[in-house]
Amino acid sequence: MKRRKKLEKSQRSSTQLKATTAIVRVIESYGVKLKAADLDYIGLCPFHEDSGLSLRVTPSKGLFQCPVCNATGNVVQFITRMRNISEREAALQLCQSVPGVISGSDLLAAGEKKDTSL
Ligand SMILES: [Zn+2]
Repeated sequence: MKRRKKLEKSQRSSTQLKATTAIVRVIESYGVKLKAADLDYIGLCPFHEDSGLSLRVTPSKGLFQCPVCNATGNVVQFITRMRNISEREAALQLCQSVPGVISGSDLLAAGEKKDTSL
């Protein structure tokens, strides 16, 4: 007898790849002005009262980081923090504000785990 194997797709990386190109645009859309600094971008951190351009955005990795208030993450997590919403909601908003950045399947991957008990 053969047992059926469950197919599990893990395509998280594709989400990150697409998100990298958008992170600067998205962060600027929240009113944060970013300046190019080498390969990164720097700007005022929106998560604390910043006066020293503490926020560093690395588009090649799709990550932001602030060493002062320890804020860090990807573009979806940036929106999550900014709006105080779930990652799934943030991914949805990203999809609406920057069309084509995230596909429907990516939304599922970013937001909730599918519990397939069938
Ligand atoms: Zn900060």
